[in-house]
This record gives sequence, structure tokens and C-alpha cells, in this order.
Amino acid sequence: MVDREVYDVIIIGSGPAGYTASIYACRANLKTLVIAGVESGGQLMLTREVENFPGFPEGVLGPDLMERMRQQAESQGAEIIYDDATAVDFKTYPYKVFTGDAEYLGRTVIIATGASPKWLGLESERRLLGRGVSSCATCDGPLFKGAENIVVVGGGDSAMEYALYLANLAEKVTVIHRRDKLRASKILQERAFANSKITFVWDSVVTDILGEKKVEAVKVKNVKTGGEQVIKCNAVFIAIGHKPNTEIFKGQVELDEMGYVRLYNGMQTNVPGVFAAGDVHDHRYRQAVTAAGYGCMAAMEAVKFIEEGYAEKLLSKPIEG
Ligand code: NAP
Repeated sequence: MVDREVYDVIIIGSGPAGYTASIYACRANLKTLVIAGVESGGQLMLTREVENFPGFPEGVLGPDLMERMRQQAESQGAEIIYDDATAVDFKTYPYKVFTGDAEYLGRTVIIATGASPKWLGLESERRLLGRGVSSCATCDGPLFKGAENIVVVGGGDSAMEYALYLANLAEKVTVIHRRDKLRASKILQERAFANSKITFVWDSVVTDILGEKKVEAVKVKNVKTGGEQVIKCNAVFIAIGHKPNTEIFKGQVELDEMGYVRLYNGMQTNVPGVFAAGDVHDHRYRQAVTAAGYGCMAAMEAVKFIEEGYAEKLLSKPIEG
């Protein structure tokens, strides 16, 4: 199927960045399409209580928050397609976004495909996700205030930040790292080493997470000695990195060395009229509220791009393929 209608803006992604962008675009009267993905809603769909999104003093479940954003986008007039974007063509204008064999045309595109946390790949990790297993300390850490022990897996900056943050909440934090050296920056390493609540289990990997309804312990194996131990804990935070969801944009927009979309001048990518918002470009803050803010900014820039006639200029002079 080929839909020849040209949208003012096509938003790829349906996390807080994508839905916020669509709300702002619709309110500026742009004809707006959201390609939400088969698994719409982004990373908050994997979280339970969200207690740091302003406006919800009693907290809100991640999936409920995303459902409210979806409804708000729809009520403002966004057209939403629950399909995955499988390819884009930013070499011709209007830009093309493909979902399988359907093709959509847009005067502007906002890339809001987010990033996915990397996981250990254990069955128990999946089963206990949101029941003590988490990939976001600022989101889920406060649920474990007063916990006896929280495990953090990883040795990078995120793991150290998580450990330091969680040490303010729990009695003890155990960092499990697969090597005997941290990858984290010196300053974070020093802070973590200086914190008496944080202990390290070196050269070790988590081989299982134990607990029926909630996390109760982790099984850990020393990769040098082969020795195994069980460490009791109330939660496990996996901080082994994120992967930006930019596979389909390779060769279409400039990505940085880690694969995140590179921005120039606000939310603008190196392709005129193609913007990015949220975790797909931001590996620093990675919060629902910051992603929503970036979505708003990207939409405002798309509006300006169209209002100032850039889209027409590009239309009259198709980009060379
Ligand atoms: P990262 O730097 O890639 O570190 C990932 C850590 O997880 C590494 O220690 C790695 O071990 C370990 N790991 C990876 N796969 C694993 C697996 N399958 N099993 C066990 N351990 C595994 O990721 P990040 O810490 O999320 O940081 C990402 C980027 O954001 C970095 O550039 C970082 O500097 C930046 N960042 C900065 C800040 C800050 O400045 N405050 C905060 C957070 C993130 P190895 O060391 O053995 O590879």
C-alpha cells in the first residue's frame, strides 16, 4: 500500500518524546502522524511506579502514564499507527518513512525512537522486571527506601551513579562487575570507593535472579575461580549500558560514535527538517520528563521549519539521491 498524502510531520516513536512532540505539533495545526511501533509506549512500559513525573503526587504506573499521553495525542488530532518503522529515506523530499510495505511522506520527521537498556538475558530477569529488577535507579530506586541490600550490575558511569544514588536510600549496595577494574570515570569511581555503604564483588557475573513474586537474591559466579555464591537482596539494577534505537537511520542521519543521533543547533539533525528528541540523542539525562521536554522542542522547531517555508523550498528542489 502506498499512501501519497504528505504529512507535515511524521514522528517515529511513542515514548514521552514522541507523544509530547505530537501534542505540540497538532496544537500548531500540523498534520501529524505518529508511527508508534508494535510495542508502543517506550521504556516506561517496563516500569511500574513512576514517582518523579510532575503532576502525579500519588505516583503513576508507567504504562498508565503512557496510555494517558497516547490519549492526549489522539485527542489533539494525531494519527497513530501501531506498526514499526522499518526504513527511512531522507535522500529525497518529501521524506519517506516505511512500515513494512507501507510508505508515508513527511515534510518534516521527528526521530523519537529512544534507546533500549541492555539486559543480561536471563529468564528470571524478564520475569521479575518491575518486581525488583529495573534498569533505572532514579525511576525505581525510591521504591526500595530502607532496603537491606540492593545489587547493581555493571562497572560504568551509570552503575556508579546508580550505586551512589541507591546508597542514599538503602542500607547497603553491592556492585557486581565482570572485571576487576571499573570502566567508570575516575571521579565516580572515587566517590563510590569512598562510600562505606557500597561494596564490590569483582570478576563476577549474575547467573540467576532468585525469587518467585519479587527479587530475593542473586546467584553470582566468579569468572576467574568458577566459585558461586548467593547474595540476598531486595532489588537488582542492571546498568550495563543502553543501545540507541537508530539501526534504521544509519546512512540517513549522522550518528555519533555510540550510535546516538547527532544534533546541530537545537533538535536539528544534519538533515534539514529531520529532528530528534529524547533518549535517541540524549544518553545523559534519560528521564521521561526530559524526553517530553525534548519532544516539545523538536515539534516547535518542526513548526518553525514549515512556517518559515523551508519545506516548500526543499519541495521545489528535491534533494539529490
Ligand atoms: P558503559 O560505559 O557501556 O558501561 C557498561 C558497563 O556494563 C561496563 O562496565 C561493562 O563491563 C558492563 N557490561 C556490559 N555488558 C555486560 C554484560 N553482558 N554483563 C555484565 N556486565 C556488562 O555504559 P553506561 O555506564 O551506561 O554509560 C554509557 C555512556 O554514558 C558512557 O559514555 C558514560 O560515560 C555516559 N554516562 C555518563 C554519566 C555521567 O557523566 N555522569 C552517567 C551515566 C552515563 P566492561 O567494563 O567489562 O566492558
